[in-house]
Amino acid sequence: MPHYAPPLRDTRFVLDHIVRLQDHAALPGFDQVAPDLVDAVLEGGGQMAAEVLFPLNQIGDRQGCTRQSDGSVITPDGFKSAYDRYIAGGWTTLDCPEAYGGQGLPRVLSTAIGEYVLSANQAFEMYPGLTGGAIAAILVKGSDAQKATYLPNMIAGKWSGTMNLTEPQCGTDLGLIRTRAEPQPDGSHRLTGGKIFISAGEHDLTENIIHLVLARTTGAPDGVKGISLFIVPKFLVNPDGSLGARNAVSCGAIEHKMGINGNATCQMNYDGATGWLVGEENKGLAAMFIMMNAARLAVGLQGLSQAEIAYQNALSYAKERQQGRALTGPAAPQEKADPLIVHPDVRRMLMEAKALTEGLRALCLWGVLQVDLAEKAATEAERQAADDLISLLTPVIKGYGTDKGFDVAVSCQQIWGGHGYIRDNGMEQFVRDARIAQIYEGTNGVQAMDLVGRKLAMNGGRAIRAFFAMVDGEAAAAKADPALADLAGRLEKANGELKAATMWLMQHAMGNPNHAGAAATAYLHLMGIVTVGLMWLRMAMAASRLLAAGEGDRSFLEAKLLTARFYGERIMPDAGALRRKLEAGADSVMAMPVDAF
Ligand SMILES: Cc1cc2nc3c(=O)[nH]c(=O)nc-3n(C[C@H](O)[C@H](O)[C@H](O)COP(=O)(O)OP(=O)(O)OC[C@H]3O[C@@H](n4cnc5c(N)ncnc54)[C@H](O)[C@@H]3O)c2cc1C
Repeated sequence: MPHYAPPLRDTRFVLDHIVRLQDHAALPGFDQVAPDLVDAVLEGGGQMAAEVLFPLNQIGDRQGCTRQSDGSVITPDGFKSAYDRYIAGGWTTLDCPEAYGGQGLPRVLSTAIGEYVLSANQAFEMYPGLTGGAIAAILVKGSDAQKATYLPNMIAGKWSGTMNLTEPQCGTDLGLIRTRAEPQPDGSHRLTGGKIFISAGEHDLTENIIHLVLARTTGAPDGVKGISLFIVPKFLVNPDGSLGARNAVSCGAIEHKMGINGNATCQMNYDGATGWLVGEENKGLAAMFIMMNAARLAVGLQGLSQAEIAYQNALSYAKERQQGRALTGPAAPQEKADPLIVHPDVRRMLMEAKALTEGLRALCLWGVLQVDLAEKAATEAERQAADDLISLLTPVIKGYGTDKGFDVAVSCQQIWGGHGYIRDNGMEQFVRDARIAQIYEGTNGVQAMDLVGRKLAMNGGRAIRAFFAMVDGEAAAAKADPALADLAGRLEKANGELKAATMWLMQHAMGNPNHAGAAATAYLHLMGIVTVGLMWLRMAMAASRLLAAGEGDRSFLEAKLLTARFYGERIMPDAGALRRKLEAGADSVMAMPVDAF
């Protein structure tokens, strides 16, 4: 049986030394987070995840969801009562505005809890998780009446939310959406069409489901310029806020899939369903992007969360399972064999898992801090800088975070040998659950194109220039400390590879856009290495300072320094290979005639 314990100490280290909550104490929301409140929230959230949600993870995987003949969907045993406890504990309200019943805490804190919930049970988390994205879109684009009608119940978790983009003929290319919305005399629209792959589209956890649906109004232009966003509730809401008639939206089928089986992935039929426009007509994509940007960061967190639980289970196994002898002679001569952890190849996988998991935790939390700062920082210049940074890094957190999350899950399964392939041991579920995060919310290939095609050029390259300067500045400063000089030098070198790769793209991609397309994934990974490298430099600096001051847990801090060294020596050098790969350009990628494949 797998096990899970929330990594409270590491989260706390990141919050104190990378996010530096105390530096932002004057900002709204942050002013509430005294250190003991942070501890209470982390411990309470961790306990909920480990004791209530994790025991349902394998049950959810095996049972999956069941669609009844009337179209209703039943979630796995235990999900409903766990959900009731989850909302009773206020876990859906943490970072939501107080005006609508939220607690107004920083997103960075809810994200820390989000990691625990995702590790414990990703399929479960997606029910409240999707609702969070829908809340974000309504908050920014909804009318005051829409906010008042939907947000209090959604924030309280009594109602859930979904995002409905995908149709059979339309996945990445949203310009192909066919669902139609006809205006009605009362100001509503009638929506007709079919959506597929809708996470949490139908279930038994909440009394109402608020679908956010992309559709085309009558006479709208073709392509993405003719898409509008609509609120389509499962049950219409009466003027007094009570639930009214059932709307003409139903679940036609649920998908049988590779992982996250406890989450219902639904085909949704809109048969003249009543919906209300959110924001401006034909500006639906911009509205949906608010939801998608929040969701992309949350999906990056899924990569981290599956890596973390897979690592925890690989580590305990590597210490217990005895096979073979250490290359340098028996480590446990009293036993017939040594534990797996003596073998360098097993160590390699464990160290990669540890370095990437802790690095991604720092990146996810520091990234989400930028979302908080973009909204709440004291000056316009600070808000702008934070917004630039998170716009640039969102595809990196989503794409690199989930690619590495999956790789780590696979390596950790590998540490279990054949036993990792056996269902009861749980490792194969982590691999299967991690896989989807590379695909939805825009595939990782699309994230890479977003980074290379849009984010680098944003505002004349302002964000990427600021990023380069930040990395170079911090690396140069750290070089002065002999304990950090090697890591800082390696980071500076990796940043140099990233700068050269960026220059190569600027010089070559305009003339041949295929160069950008062929380079994009390598570029995203190169940037991921540098960004996580920056996190490791910061963590090493903090550990070094605390050790010198005689503060903190010595063995934890020394482990941070050893892991930082591993990252610098064994992961950072991949930056050079990625640069050379992308500078080879598109020719060998595109040369083969289609018929010759
Ligand atoms: C379990 C699950 C849950 C989901 N949940 C939701 C949900 O809640 N709401 C929702 O709306 N959707 C949801 N989706 C849909 C998901 O977001 C899409 O599957 C995804 O965006 C990819 O679209 P597609 O499957 O049509 O692939 P396609 O768009 O057909 O892409 C196929 C491949 O081609 C590549 N590709 C496509 N276009 C380009 C391009 N221009 N440049 C480079 N490469 C390209 C892609 O990267 C991919 O590798 C879910 C899917 C699954 C499987």
